[in-house]
Amino acid sequence: MTHAAHALANEALWEKDRAHAVHPWTNFGPFEERGSLIFTRGEGCYLWDADGRRYFDAIGGMWCTNIGLGRREMADAIAEQALRLGYSNFFVDTGNDAAALLAAKLAELAPGDLNRVHFTTGGSTAVDTAIRMVAYYHHVRGHPEKTHVVSREASYHGSTYLTISVGKRYGDRIEEFRYKEDGIHHLSSPNLYRRPAGMDEDAFCDLLVAEFEDLIARVGADRIGGFIAEPIQASGGIVIPPAGYLKRMWEVCRRHDILFIADEVVTAFGRIGHWFASEAEFGIVPDMITTAKGLTSGYVPLGAVIFSDRIWATMAEGGHRWFSTGFTYSGHPVSCRAGLKNIEIMEREGLLARATDVGRYFEERLATLAELPLVGNVRGRKLMACVESVANRETKEPLPDEVGESKRISDACEAMGLMVRPMGHLNVMSPPLVITRDEVDFVVETLGQAIRQVTDELV
Ligand code: PLP
Repeated sequence: MTHAAHALANEALWEKDRAHAVHPWTNFGPFEERGSLIFTRGEGCYLWDADGRRYFDAIGGMWCTNIGLGRREMADAIAEQALRLGYSNFFVDTGNDAAALLAAKLAELAPGDLNRVHFTTGGSTAVDTAIRMVAYYHHVRGHPEKTHVVSREASYHGSTYLTISVGKRYGDRIEEFRYKEDGIHHLSSPNLYRRPAGMDEDAFCDLLVAEFEDLIARVGADRIGGFIAEPIQASGGIVIPPAGYLKRMWEVCRRHDILFIADEVVTAFGRIGHWFASEAEFGIVPDMITTAKGLTSGYVPLGAVIFSDRIWATMAEGGHRWFSTGFTYSGHPVSCRAGLKNIEIMEREGLLARATDVGRYFEERLATLAELPLVGNVRGRKLMACVESVANRETKEPLPDEVGESKRISDACEAMGLMVRPMGHLNVMSPPLVITRDEVDFVVETLGQAIRQVTDELV
């Protein structure tokens, strides 16, 4: 069934969207034909389309609807703030109560001395700001050449010109946009499934760390200012690094005076059972954490760079200097109020512990799909997971792109009332933290059925 058929009862709405609304990452051809699936309501983990059909949203919006949709108290908090103080200028030396309270709360939840919060409008603007901060920090310390940034293959750090260039997802149309390459370096993705044949996990980890050391030797520690890494690569395919990898990369950074930016736009706020994954899951205290998404559970846009007292002290030293970056909506009172309410709900309902408990069950149940013929790998950590399809399980060779199996699998799921996200040869899931065990069963059984159906179509 096409989206067009879904929306027949709302033809006018569907046509307006198709004719005028430009959707990110749209594939123009199919969009012209199918238009989009238009949602008009959401509650908990469920979405309803314009024709009243219900879907379980195992994507969690876009890795973000952590507390679930349709929360009355969240809507009330947003409305109360909008009415009392819907906006105030956050530049220079004016602020607002919600931003002050949220900044203090984030400082309390973040690891180590990460006590300074620079609010942004989302994840891309947080990463962009963090990269500017790298250059500024080193400049102030008398190392103006330390502007280069090291990232990894299969990473995604946002969609501004700079952040998309820093990221490097497979299949992104790099050549079409002439992304910035100067001063940006990409190391290998720490993808265990795709490691060289016959190599064990420790040796793979050694190889990755050596690759970083080699790059530093080649480019010069005097030119490399920052290293950015998602603790678990999200859009690049739920890449859980080898044991010890992040800690060793962090140690390399410290040895060479390179700032470590943990991009926790996805991994924070309970996605894998912690406020932040860096320290709790991987034992590192980065110099900066960038975050967004689950910070407000997607109710309103908000991002943040949470950085160390050490960086602050360096930037502020001497007094007459300022960090000239910010957005009209920096520290937006309505967004910050939503962030506070979001954290309050997570604390009160114990959603981190719940994500750990149900997340482990999700891992266990998903593992049962590994036996299906099309499935090469099932991987994930708690409520971040994916299934990777292959043409050959021995060689791990992918299916030809034109087969489009992951889109076919997600379409088959959609027809059965389940949203999973197709990405390259993966089907990705990051459900709200309020998902129940019964709903986990539904997701896994439906996805399994969709994979079997598409496998039958392919033979
Ligand atoms: N960083 C990571 C790890 C992300 O996954 C994303 C978005 O998916 C971003 C940054 C960009 O965030 P936003 O889309 O809010 O700009």
